[in-house]
Amino acid sequence: MLIERRDFLSTLTLAGAASLLPGTNLLASMIPKKEKLGIALVGLGYYSTDLLAPALQLTEKCYLAGIVTGTPSKAQAWKEKYQIPDKNIYNYQNFDQIKNNPDIDIVYVVLPPSMHREFVVRAAKAGKHVFCEKPMAPTVADCQAMIEACKANKVKLAIGYRCQHDPNIQAVMQVAKDKRFGPVKMITSAAGYFDARTTHWKQNKKLGGGVMGDMGVYALQGARLATGEEPISVIAQASTTRPDIYKEVEETMMFMLEFPSGARATCQTSFGINMNYLQVNYEKGWLKLEPQSSYSGNKGSMSDGTIINFPLKSQQAKQMDEDCAAIINNTDLIAPGEEGLRDIKVVEAIYKSVATGKSVKI
Ligand code: NAD
Repeated sequence: MLIERRDFLSTLTLAGAASLLPGTNLLASMIPKKEKLGIALVGLGYYSTDLLAPALQLTEKCYLAGIVTGTPSKAQAWKEKYQIPDKNIYNYQNFDQIKNNPDIDIVYVVLPPSMHREFVVRAAKAGKHVFCEKPMAPTVADCQAMIEACKANKVKLAIGYRCQHDPNIQAVMQVAKDKRFGPVKMITSAAGYFDARTTHWKQNKKLGGGVMGDMGVYALQGARLATGEEPISVIAQASTTRPDIYKEVEETMMFMLEFPSGARATCQTSFGINMNYLQVNYEKGWLKLEPQSSYSGNKGSMSDGTIINFPLKSQQAKQMDEDCAAIINNTDLIAPGEEGLRDIKVVEAIYKSVATGKSVKI
């Protein structure tokens, strides 16, 4: 049940009174918990339209409460389709007024990567919890600023790593933990698709494009999650088969990672090749997943005959419900800002390796 306006106002009064008292636990205990949180999607492109908004019709702990868009015609269409009240519709200019809107608990940033920092920081300053799509941002400095802003404003920051909520990927992570086949020795991780577009943000450096600004993090996550370790060095090579389209960013990236345990990963990612699989070779066995980062149908097997094939109604609904549960219960998020930052540290090292032609320590 949602908090009524009257209850919200009394919550504010309680919060105000509690802020005069020492200790935050008292404040937390005085604020009534919402059972269902209101989410505002920022950026109504492909992912919001085709995946997140439909998933928000299936969620139990959150619902589509508002939108933030720079396109008035989209605002009108979404308003009609999802019965969104005018008071919950914002544009990029008046977005900061969202701080006065008790219907919105969470702002979900679904913009090109170079815009993530600005909108995450503005959402945090408005006192809203934030979900931010992957990759977190183009640079480590951006990610750190986003984490700091959320900490300073005491809001949670979750990165949209939907796969970490998928039991099929969690099965791979579990093998890294229980070491049933001994240590990881060698990994091959691939994530790519053929993108026919020519002038999209994915081909634009300033907007955070290049394959490492999109599919690349899935290839990287495959290796990081399969080892449960952080890579210590990388050597990378960028290439393109369509130089007329990929003028300022890479179409394809190949990178080799070295992990502290001695495990090695060969990773491939591309906007020109359809590929999506993970193979992990351990000392005493193997695991294969294909696909490894689809919206549904991630599946595979292990050398001891174990089948990985857990059904999932909606990865995005599970992700948002689990992240909302963490907010409601004030528990740890599965993929907080710090997890997004870990990937971008590696991405920066990958670009440095491409620029220098050398192996780079991370
Ligand atoms: P998209 O191009 O379809 O949508 C981007 C949105 O941003 C559009 O509504 C566009 O109008 C808006 N926008 C505002 N200012 C813009 C500008 N200056 N240039 C371009 N667009 C601008 O992109 P998308 O595929 O929806 O991706 C958005 C985010 O979601 C990215 O971070 C992407 O990596 C992520 N994404 C995640 C998944 C996933 O599986 N988790 C899948 C797809 C996309």
